Amino acid sequence: MANKKVIIIGAGMTGLCAGSYLQMNGYDTEIFELDNGEKHSADIVVSAADGFDTIYNMRENDRAKYKEEKQKIADRVIQELEKKIGNIKDKVEVIDVATPATFNRYTNNWRGSYEGWLPGPGALMVTIKKELPGLNNLYMIGQWVEPGGGLPNTIRSGRYVAQIICKKDNKEFEVKK
Ligand SMILES: Cc1cc2nc3c(=O)[nH]c(=O)nc-3n(C[C@H](O)[C@H](O)[C@H](O)COP(=O)(O)OP(=O)(O)OC[C@H]3O[C@@H](n4cnc5c(N)ncnc54)[C@H](O)[C@@H]3O)c2cc1C
Repeated sequence: MANKKVIIIGAGMTGLCAGSYLQMNGYDTEIFELDNGEKHSADIVVSAADGFDTIYNMRENDRAKYKEEKQKIADRVIQELEKKIGNIKDKVEVIDVATPATFNRYTNNWRGSYEGWLPGPGALMVTIKKELPGLNNLYMIGQWVEPGGGLPNTIRSGRYVAQIICKKDNKEFEVKK
């Protein structure tokens, strides 16, 4: 009998881990990824921790100053990178400065948190169901359904969905080297 096939949406860490664990357990997998990798450039992400209130209030009350501040940050980052890796200024195609106000605006994450979860006592021990009512055979995976976020949780999420599927099929979950 042909192997069962599992379709995975997204080739992030979670999707790749889900695919690996499912293949170890005899499933065929196919991953659909939005980013087709056609751009011939690299992304550099530079992040620095800072508070929420100052930048949020600046954006709310003085948009011109906020934009100026973002430009200053962009210039400073380019300057620092140039010190380390040489001339990149002319090669930069797109630069975007995302502040905690940006994260808050696009994701509604609490005070612009970039992983989406405040690791408070009430949040970390919560288990979110991976299935939705009325949608058989669809499982939600990834950092958004694993409070705490981060790579260890996404790896666990990929493994967990393989375990759920094996259990449904009365298969013993195996990890192969
Ligand atoms: C700046 C930053 C720094 C971080 N630093 C750390 C760190 O130091 N340590 C740590 O543990 N974690 C860190 N994290 C968190 C960690 O990167 C994430 O938790 C993890 O990568 C999430 O993996 P994921 O597979 O759930 O999601 P993603 O990596 O977001 O993967 C989702 C994939 O799905 C694709 N996709 C989306 N929509 C569709 C669609 N409709 N169709 C097809 N494909 C789609 C996307 O293109 C993407 O490739 C950081 C995150 C950020 C943003």
